[in-house]
Amino acid sequence: MVDLKSQYSDIKSEIDNAVIDVIESGQYINGPAVQNFTSNLAQYLSVNHVIPCANGTDALQVALMALDLKQGDEVITTDFTFASSVEVIALLGLKPVLVDVEMDTFNIDVDKISSAITSNTKAIIPVHLFGQTAEMDKIMKLAEENNLYVIEDNAQAIGSVYTNSNNEEIKAGTIGHIGTTSFFPSKNLGCYGDGGAIFTNDDHLAQKMRGLVNHGMYKRYYHDLVGINSRLDSVQAAILNIKLKNLDKYNQSRRNSAMIYNKLINSSEIIKPIIKYNENSHVFHQYTLRLTNGKRDEMVKFLNENDVPCGVYYPIPLHSQNAYKRDEYKESDFEITNQISNEVFSLPMHSELDEEQQKYIADLVNQFMLKS
Ligand SMILES: *Cc1c(COP(=O)(O)O)cnc(C)c1O
Repeated sequence: MVDLKSQYSDIKSEIDNAVIDVIESGQYINGPAVQNFTSNLAQYLSVNHVIPCANGTDALQVALMALDLKQGDEVITTDFTFASSVEVIALLGLKPVLVDVEMDTFNIDVDKISSAITSNTKAIIPVHLFGQTAEMDKIMKLAEENNLYVIEDNAQAIGSVYTNSNNEEIKAGTIGHIGTTSFFPSKNLGCYGDGGAIFTNDDHLAQKMRGLVNHGMYKRYYHDLVGINSRLDSVQAAILNIKLKNLDKYNQSRRNSAMIYNKLINSSEIIKPIIKYNENSHVFHQYTLRLTNGKRDEMVKFLNENDVPCGVYYPIPLHSQNAYKRDEYKESDFEITNQISNEVFSLPMHSELDEEQQKYIADLVNQFMLKS
């Protein structure tokens, strides 16, 4: 699905030197590499504060912890995503409220957020799924009207550019009150281990979160808040600093590959991804298709048998997961997620795909459709 080794070979000497520099410096925790990367990322995103942390799940947890919510407060998020967002809501004793998605973008359906809001709702966590920004203008408007916080889970869309209703271009993850991301190796901006970050333009929230990731300490051994220990280490920061310089190029190359797949794959029963806002609003963390003839699992098997890795993101809606099931959920509220979790499959997508590989993959997809 990804080819991290060939990306590394292009930047090997730069990475190797940066890693050795950190090791020789002896500053492994919160060293200059971390500060350096943090300020470069803030500049890249045009955001006032970037708080590095250990992974994308911690980033979401710390963001929620910063909001001073009380047990049982409701937080709305999408039914169709990786489990992190619903997991941290539940872990903090808050109540996850899952909402169905749009068929064409796989992102949370804003009209359905509206009807899920109650007097206990305190926050919304939209996820920019597969690399495409959710409908942030409408989400922010709804949040303002109902006095809610918005935390953007930007683990899959770093570098994506959203066009708002004033025609301003703004980076995904910097539109809500807080944005979070993950530097898991396979993400668009990935390190060689675990890492994450939190973004905000709000000075007060930033100050709070800087304490929360560091045992609630602002002054050494003085604990003002109940916090956690969540750090990005210096080696990963040094690697990310080099990869950040290449991020726009990597994202462009993913977009090009997506356009090539779009051109090569031909079937009326396959629905291809759309780019909703502007040409840079989708960074194709995944290239995800829908197969509408009911043979998705056979397609995946066929591709795998022909040495093409093929993933299903995500096969089970969150509302059906054992950990998050709830009697009050009605299947009719999750019609789209129920349908697409049986239809989606994702083809290999990364910044080093070449056209020959894509032809081989697309030929197999077309072949399967001809015989099915
Ligand atoms: C990867 C991912 C996360 C979690 O990131 P980790 O660094 O693995 O904790 C959260 N949300 C989404 C949408 C993701 O894709």
